[in-house]
Amino acid sequence: MAFSFFGGIHPKENKWYAENHPVHQFPEPDILVIPMSQHIGAPCQPLVKKGDTVTMGQKIGDNQGLCVPVHAPVSGTVKAVEMRPHTSGTMVLSVVIENDHQDTLCPDITPRTREEADKLTPEELMNIIREAGIVGMGGATFPTHVKLSSGLGKVDTVIVNVSECEPYIVADDRLCQEYPEDVIAGLEIVMKVLGLKEAHIALEDNKPKAKAALEKAMEGKPGILLDILPAKYPQGAEKQLIYAVTGREVPSGGLPAAVGCAVVNSATCKAISDAVYDGMPLIRRIVTVSGDIVMEPKNLMVPIGTSFNELLEAVGHRENPYKVLSGGPMMGAAQYDLAVPVIKGTNAVTILGQKNKFVVDNPKCIRCGKCVEVCPMHLMPVLIYKAMFTGDADEMLAVDLMDCIECGCCAYTCPAGVPLVLGFRAAKQRVRNAQAAAKK
Ligand code: SF4
Ligand code: SF4
Repeated sequence: MAFSFFGGIHPKENKWYAENHPVHQFPEPDILVIPMSQHIGAPCQPLVKKGDTVTMGQKIGDNQGLCVPVHAPVSGTVKAVEMRPHTSGTMVLSVVIENDHQDTLCPDITPRTREEADKLTPEELMNIIREAGIVGMGGATFPTHVKLSSGLGKVDTVIVNVSECEPYIVADDRLCQEYPEDVIAGLEIVMKVLGLKEAHIALEDNKPKAKAALEKAMEGKPGILLDILPAKYPQGAEKQLIYAVTGREVPSGGLPAAVGCAVVNSATCKAISDAVYDGMPLIRRIVTVSGDIVMEPKNLMVPIGTSFNELLEAVGHRENPYKVLSGGPMMGAAQYDLAVPVIKGTNAVTILGQKNKFVVDNPKCIRCGKCVEVCPMHLMPVLIYKAMFTGDADEMLAVDLMDCIECGCCAYTCPAGVPLVLGFRAAKQRVRNAQAAAKK
């Protein structure tokens, strides 16, 4: 067990803002916007139209291929099916639901007893996970049933990710403190699907209360091991976590299954348990709403489709925000329109004040090498930055742009204020487009 990884940084954690606030049920909004694209893969096709009535948990969108369905988080009436702003910064086809506040449950939702669930085969469990619309809830949003089915026969180690290394975010920490039995129950289902007798739960050493709650829930379950890792960013990144827990290195361009591993987020484990035992699809999630100008930081159990505007109103802020991020300050995406809804991968909304503004006019590299020292992927960020400006896919590939996990360690460390990671995401898309064009 390696217990750490190369590079990384120690940004101010700022978890204290929200870590002692228990999860509160967010009052259900009057209007919810459910994007048809909340996962990696093919977007859903709407299964409802304007004027339809829907029940809580009813499937309202689905598609073939790499896709999971989306469900109505409340009962009510479909007001529109139209393009709406999305946390990705694009416009996405969405179903707009007017809440009738009756919470009329979809008749398809039927809970199962332990005995009934125990009789389910791995295939049946994977189908339940798919039909519940479950994706990686740490932000990756990869369909979980695909991750599990592609790991069959290859994976010998499953790791539950409770690292949550980004500043401010404590949603998984609170989840493990308040719902540890559900996390363990979901993990046991994952173990059954993958045919494993042993599993790891990995959390950083800055979550003692979550550790205690999980230890209690794990009593009498000898196959589940708790790994306490030193807090370091980006400990929660899949490849870094796998190395820290197992010492195995995922090869460049490879998936965790290539080294026999599968990483599942703790919130995803709870969603699996909810789906299998309660029959409930993924229609709610915990969101940490925090930041340095927030008046009352909170952890909220939020229906998918709740607007960021409503979350900002719920916590209040002392000044006009400099940035509102979907996610944390290191990897989160700044939002230009706060009408965007919470989606399945939204673990946090981080509201930052003007003092976080750090822009250097005409930044110049001073060749200090700090960005290289901290890159957890062993890359040369400054060379990627230069290659990015050539616009040439081959040059960008030559400096291993596609291995960048967009963690932001390089930009955080750069004393010259070179905006290293800013364009890496767009540059990767350019390379993918060039590769697709070349294939054609
Ligand atoms: S180059 Fe990419 S992986 Fe390396 S530190 Fe920068 S953002 Fe992180
Ligand atoms: S950290 Fe900034 S200044 Fe130092 S080598 Fe990297 S890009 Fe240049």
